[in-house]
Amino acid sequence: MNVSSAVRDESFREVRDGVAKLCSRFPGEYWRALDRAAEYPRDFVSALTEAGYLSALIPEEYGGLGMSLREAAVIMEEIQRAGCNGAACHAQMYIMGTLLRHGSEAQKARYLPEIASGRLRLQAFGVTEPTSGTDTGSLKTFARRDGDSYVVRGQKIWTSRVAHSDLMLLLARTAPQAEGGKRTDGLSVFVVDLRQAGDRVTIRPIRTMMNHSTTEVFFDDLRIPADSLIGEEGKGFRYILSGMNAERILIASECVGDAKWFIAKAAAYAGERVVFGRPIGQNQGVQFPIARAYASMRAAELMVERAAEKFDQGLDCGQEANMAKMLAAESSFEAANMCIQTHGGFGFAEEFDIERKFRETRLYQVAPISTNLILSYLAEHVLGLPRSF
Ligand SMILES: Cc1cc2nc3c(=O)[nH]c(=O)nc-3n(C[C@H](O)[C@H](O)[C@H](O)COP(=O)(O)OP(=O)(O)OC[C@H]3O[C@@H](n4cnc5c(N)ncnc54)[C@H](O)[C@@H]3O)c2cc1C
Repeated sequence: MNVSSAVRDESFREVRDGVAKLCSRFPGEYWRALDRAAEYPRDFVSALTEAGYLSALIPEEYGGLGMSLREAAVIMEEIQRAGCNGAACHAQMYIMGTLLRHGSEAQKARYLPEIASGRLRLQAFGVTEPTSGTDTGSLKTFARRDGDSYVVRGQKIWTSRVAHSDLMLLLARTAPQAEGGKRTDGLSVFVVDLRQAGDRVTIRPIRTMMNHSTTEVFFDDLRIPADSLIGEEGKGFRYILSGMNAERILIASECVGDAKWFIAKAAAYAGERVVFGRPIGQNQGVQFPIARAYASMRAAELMVERAAEKFDQGLDCGQEANMAKMLAAESSFEAANMCIQTHGGFGFAEEFDIERKFRETRLYQVAPISTNLILSYLAEHVLGLPRSF
């Protein structure tokens, strides 16, 4: 078995080949130039949109591909395995799930076909705030009902891709935290049309260690129509939660794709690079970290597949989705670190793309949920240990 076939999965061959072919038009030079300039990969996102891949999870009746989550996960895996960066657009796949599951017929008919065709972009998801962080229940952005409108005031942080999106899914408080109630009661979710926001929304880019188009967003009494509300007022957190398993599974799949890229790159280099008169890969000290990264990736991949299968069967996959995300994010970073080590000095050279992918894949141990919070979920909800916060 050669290196590339060892890290290639044969399932969903047609989807894999289609994505790989598209990605071959966006080689390392393309991503390096964007990374240096901190620019958004517009051409790549347009190509994915035109090919229909970003509408994978939108049902066919709304003009999407109507794929299973397992197939959508394969798309994201192949993007990363090809050395590209799906972070520029992955949200479009899972954000619309909230609209699909909890939106009114009118909202679905209005937005989903436009998103599927690429005429509208729903790339931004505003949850995190500077003071609340992981503690979503304490977020402060408030949407006050005023006649036929809501008036939004507050601030979000780390709202990625918002400057490249027409629509934003926004989680805001519509009622103060009630004493004795659940901390997340009173949160509502809105689909905000950013094209009509004018100067009531200010977007400030945040420069980060990787090219991620992330920002701070300020709402200064932004008036939005009352029919921007998705589902019932005060139940927004539940609606968002139902999409989080899909988000975790897709991001875990991206991490598996990253790990495959690092492993293939390292194994190829270890076979070619000759030092002390023999390939460095002949030394077990070089072989073993590559083999270990491979085993770890394969284990994570199984968990991703299991989580996606359960999701597609409509079963509760909270445990598997969380474990898949944690194991895959750890596995991709282990592979990234191994890949740098295998390449020696060249691992740090921009033109090898390893240092860029190393920076990019590190994010997934923190966002969209950090490892500690996953461990806490498993401890409390799966193992029945006492609640810690
Ligand atoms: C590049 C980037 C893009 C992002 N994109 C988006 C986006 O598009 N939309 C969005 O809404 N958010 C986004 N985020 C936010 C991301 O989801 C949060 O950064 C993440 O959930 C962690 O929250 P925090 O940064 O506020 O960390 P904090 O909540 O401040 O936590 C800091 C550290 O403390 C740990 N910690 C906190 N509480 C506990 C506890 N009780 N027990 C154990 N450990 C704990 C955490 O695990 C973490 O490691 C993005 C973040 C980044 C960096």
